[in-house]
Amino acid sequence: MERTLIGNLRQKIGEVVKVQGWLHTLRDQKKIQFLILRDRTGLCQVAHWKENDPGLAEVISALGVESAVTVTGKVIDNPVVKLGGLEMQLESLAVENNAEIPLPFEPFGDALPALDFRMDWRFLDLRRKENLLLFQVQTELLAAMRDYWLQNDFIEINTPKLMGSPSESGAELFEVPYFETKAYLAQSPQFYKQMAMAAGFERVFEIGPVFRADPSFTSRHMTEFTSIDMEMSWIDSHEDVMAFEENMLRYTYQRVAEKYGDVIQEQMNFELRVPEVPFPRLPMAQAIEVLKQRGYQLPPDKKGDIDPGGEREIAAYIKETYDHDFVFLTDWSINVRPFYHMRYEDAPELTRGFDLIANGLEITTGAQREHRYEVLKAQALEKGLGLDPIQFYLDFFRYGCPSHGGLAIGLSRLAMVMLGLPNIREVVYLFRGPNRLHP
Ligand code: ATP
Repeated sequence: MERTLIGNLRQKIGEVVKVQGWLHTLRDQKKIQFLILRDRTGLCQVAHWKENDPGLAEVISALGVESAVTVTGKVIDNPVVKLGGLEMQLESLAVENNAEIPLPFEPFGDALPALDFRMDWRFLDLRRKENLLLFQVQTELLAAMRDYWLQNDFIEINTPKLMGSPSESGAELFEVPYFETKAYLAQSPQFYKQMAMAAGFERVFEIGPVFRADPSFTSRHMTEFTSIDMEMSWIDSHEDVMAFEENMLRYTYQRVAEKYGDVIQEQMNFELRVPEVPFPRLPMAQAIEVLKQRGYQLPPDKKGDIDPGGEREIAAYIKETYDHDFVFLTDWSINVRPFYHMRYEDAPELTRGFDLIANGLEITTGAQREHRYEVLKAQALEKGLGLDPIQFYLDFFRYGCPSHGGLAIGLSRLAMVMLGLPNIREVVYLFRGPNRLHP
């Protein structure tokens, strides 16, 4: 017999069907047993009169909640039943995998244990439908972005994550033994996506893991995360990259809202707002002025940079002024940007770089890149980099490389702001941090 999904039971009234799922709850009464089963499409009630099969009744009584079972039974229209006005009358039950008693924690209980404990048992934590929704949303989000890139003639690349030299500075770098030598885990596909510009691909994207040996314990940092990267050629300035990103995000939000907006509202009590384009833009010098005016004190070491509190304060200002959840912070000081960001001809202390802040959280860094070999080399030297380890990268700019720019978005950060969730650990499938390598 073919499996019927619980969400489709109403079309099967009067028929005997097979349902497979988890034993969500069991009400074991004197004469009758009510099993609530759950699959990815919903819940249904299955009734079993004990006298019909006393042996089976014993098996059911001994079942742990969350056991994986296959049942067959007749579907009955029963308006009294709260779950969709339907009931299955049990005919057979096979225990596919019994759940031990007690569970490490009750995933559907009112009081959930601390996040760290839930992460130890992430597969149980993920059984809640709100958590399933997070990944349905992320699936749609990535599919929408992919579609958007394909509509705009982008090519997908997959760059290596094992590297012979660091892609940025030496900080936050994981070293791994590599036969007779050592390798580094990619902190970003930066160099290799730029290589695609030198290769004449013109427009590329990549969705893949990146690694940061960052020992911080914040609600927004992980040591491994999924980076959404793109790079495009023949641009006039970073403005072209920002314009592309805001339109892509608007399209992506729209797609997610169409498919899941109502469910997000219902299950998470959160309104997914599709942003208007263009997003406001604010040069960093002005942003720092705004912070001063609002009495926000940046830490003294933040020369030309902004801290998370400052990002939230700027977001509040943008919300009040433009009623917008997004803002591009532009024109960053060269002190806080890498050597490959292009600088303004007429203001060489500023880069043609931007960050995108969404609901007070940084979700993107982007820039126009420096594509002129001599200038790039000089900027690398000025930043104190040795040229030897990056010569392979510098070579990209020696034999015909167009102007280009691009950006990187952290997938989990985007999902956090899209769904209004405060902690990246809730959004990512499995969290990796300084103290967590398991499961
Ligand atoms: P932050 O200042 O928040 O540490 P960053 O400036 O180091 O971030 P980039 O190197 O510019 O970040 O990375 C691009 C994007 O990748 C960020 O805008 C963010 O969305 C995401 N990202 C960066 N670091 C992390 C991290 N440790 N965990 C999760 N996402 C990250």
